[in-house]
Amino acid sequence: MGTKKEAVVWRVDPFQPDPGLIARAAAILRSGGLVAFPTETVYGLGASALDPQAVAGIFRVKGRPADNPLIVHVAHRRMVYRLASTVSALAEKLMDVFWPGPLTIILPRGKDVPPEVSAGLDTIAIRMPAHQVALDLIRAARLPVAAPSAYLSGRPSPTTAAHVFEDLGEYIDAILDGGPADIGVESTVLDLASPVPVVLRPGGVTVEELRAAVGEVRLDPSAAGAAAEGGEGEQAHQKPRSPGLKYRHYAPRAPLILVEGDPPQVVAKVRELAADRIAGGQKVGILACAESAGFYEQGKVLVAGSRRRPEQMAARLYGALRHFDELGVDVIIAEGIAPVGLGLAIMNRLRRAAGGRIHRV
Ligand code: AMP
Ligand code: MG
Repeated sequence: MGTKKEAVVWRVDPFQPDPGLIARAAAILRSGGLVAFPTETVYGLGASALDPQAVAGIFRVKGRPADNPLIVHVAHRRMVYRLASTVSALAEKLMDVFWPGPLTIILPRGKDVPPEVSAGLDTIAIRMPAHQVALDLIRAARLPVAAPSAYLSGRPSPTTAAHVFEDLGEYIDAILDGGPADIGVESTVLDLASPVPVVLRPGGVTVEELRAAVGEVRLDPSAAGAAAEGGEGEQAHQKPRSPGLKYRHYAPRAPLILVEGDPPQVVAKVRELAADRIAGGQKVGILACAESAGFYEQGKVLVAGSRRRPEQMAARLYGALRHFDELGVDVIIAEGIAPVGLGLAIMNRLRRAAGGRIHRV
């Protein structure tokens, strides 16, 4: 952890942030400091991507493993040409269609970029966020900004400035508070190293949208989120293409049990598991869809949103997981949803938070 201080919190309008506050935040970035800022996905913890010491600060305060590379955020296409050594026609097309937005593309790293940003890999992950505060900050700093999600490694990602403050307030310089994040899950990470692009992490841009734009797109085996961490499952024996994918992630403090399958069977299984745990004296949290919340008479039930509106669930997912921690539950039992559209990103996060504790009914 870094030296103890307390972040100043600047509240800004998400559409028209005060240029004076943006300039102060940008000055902190230019002098090597750490600033958390809102994006459309989740809050990011930013540092100058060109300053190895500032980048080291990100890893230090987050407790992020040194081999987990960062995403660099840009505000102009010309920043991409500085960061990457080559930019393919496919990359140009993806940037045309999806930027600014929740798509991160992986390109060969340019030689002026400190290797620390990419945890020593010869590639670099880049995205242009669709958020006025983020874009204004990057422009004002006149720097590409390395920014992982602004939370302690392993926790659910922060979707509000309060979440950031809770995790990192003591260790960073400033937080720009632009209100709650819209999308609520992180960006889609797309590897362009092979002729057919590979989704390493599903996120705010769906696989269906990618395929509609550029044709064939593959899913890395870890993209579904199965047993990626803790030495369990097949993934543990392979070198993951995206190093971050091997770590426990997105997890609330209480263990999470995920139940997947057709809704009626899921409800029956969740009821059974909850009853068992409650009989054993445990405080149980249930993460339910709006459609089935009424079936649970026991436990602390939080509704993430409608099963038919995964964008609603994505926006509330991490907040709900943090809320269970505040409620002090001993275990969380979560209903799965169909892994299509944004549902794939949600299921990836839930499966990884669950580790091996998944019931398929
Ligand atoms: P975060 O910013 O904390 O949401 O995580 C960024 C994600 O992007 C992690 O899963 C990283 O492993 C992945 N990532 C970043 N840079 C690269 C890269 N150069 N190659 C592969 N994956 C990357
Ligand atoms: Mg993260």
